[in-house]
Amino acid sequence: MAEELIRVAAHWHAVRRVAVLTGAGMSAESGIPTFRGAHNGLWQRFDPMQLATAEAFRADPALVWGWYVWRMGMVRAAAPNAGHRALAALASTQPVALVTQNVDDLHERAGSSGAIHLHGELFAHRCFDCSRPAPDLPLPNHDTPLLRVEPPRCVHCGGPIRPGVVWFGESLPERAWSNAVAAVEGADLVLVVGTSGLVHPAAGLPLHAKRRGAVVVEINPESTPISPTADVTWRESAARALPALVTALAR
Ligand code: NAD
Ligand code: ZN
Repeated sequence: MAEELIRVAAHWHAVRRVAVLTGAGMSAESGIPTFRGAHNGLWQRFDPMQLATAEAFRADPALVWGWYVWRMGMVRAAAPNAGHRALAALASTQPVALVTQNVDDLHERAGSSGAIHLHGELFAHRCFDCSRPAPDLPLPNHDTPLLRVEPPRCVHCGGPIRPGVVWFGESLPERAWSNAVAAVEGADLVLVVGTSGLVHPAAGLPLHAKRRGAVVVEINPESTPISPTADVTWRESAARALPALVTALAR
C-alpha cells in the first residue's frame, strides 16, 4: 500500500466530518479536458476572454454558445470515472460534503447528491437578460469547438440563453459560496482533488480549513500552490487514488 494511502486512511479513521473539493482534474480521466493542462488544456487552445466572459457573449453570442454546446456534447458523451464513483461510495458510509468547481454533472451521475457547484452547472441554462431558468433545451450535437450556433431565445423576454456557468469577471453564486465555506469550516478533514489551486476564491478554501485545524489532503499528480498547505500530498490521479482509499477504508 502506498505510504500516502496509509496516512490518509489513518487520518480518515480519526475524523468525523469530511469535505471534498474537486476541480477539473477530477473529470480528466473521463476524457474531459482540464483548463490549464499542459497538453490538452482548454486554455492552451482557446482564449478565455473570447469565450468565457459576459462581454464575449454580448459581442458574439453564437460563437460562445457554439463553444459551450461543444463542451456540453463532450460531457454528455462522457461517463463518471472510478474516482467519481469512489466519492459517492465514501459518502454512503460517512457524512461527506462535496464542493466542486466543475460545471459537469459527473458527480451526480456517479450517485453523489447535494454537490455544491461553486462555478455553476453547464446544463443549468438561463436567460442572459432576465436570468430566468431555461430548462430542458434541445441541444444540437457538433464536434467543432468554434462552430457558431445561435443561442435559443428566452420564452419570457426573448433574450438569448446562456450556459449556467460562472464566467471570468462574474461572482460566485452566493448560496453555493456560503455553503462551501460552511462545509470546510465544519470539516476536520478536507480532501482536495484535481484542482490547480489558481482560481480564487475557491483555491483559498483549503488554507481556510487548515487554519481552523482541519487536516488537508491533496490528490493531484502535480504540485500546486495548495501543496505546501497540505498535510498529505498524494501524487496520484483521482481515478486511481480514490478507489484505493475506498478499498483501504473497508478493510
Ligand atoms: P485546472 O485545469 O486549473 O487544473 C486541473 C488540475 O488537475 C491540475 O492541477 C492538474 O495537475 C490536475 N489533474 C490533471 N489530471 C488529473 C487527474 N487525473 N487526477 C487528479 N488531478 C489531475 O482546473 P481547476 O483547478 O478546476 O480550475 C478551475 C476551473 O476549471 C473551474 O472554474 C472549473 O469550473 C473549470 N473547469 C471545469 C471542467 C469540468 O467541469 N469538468 C473542465 C475544465 C475546467
Ligand atoms: Zn429572459
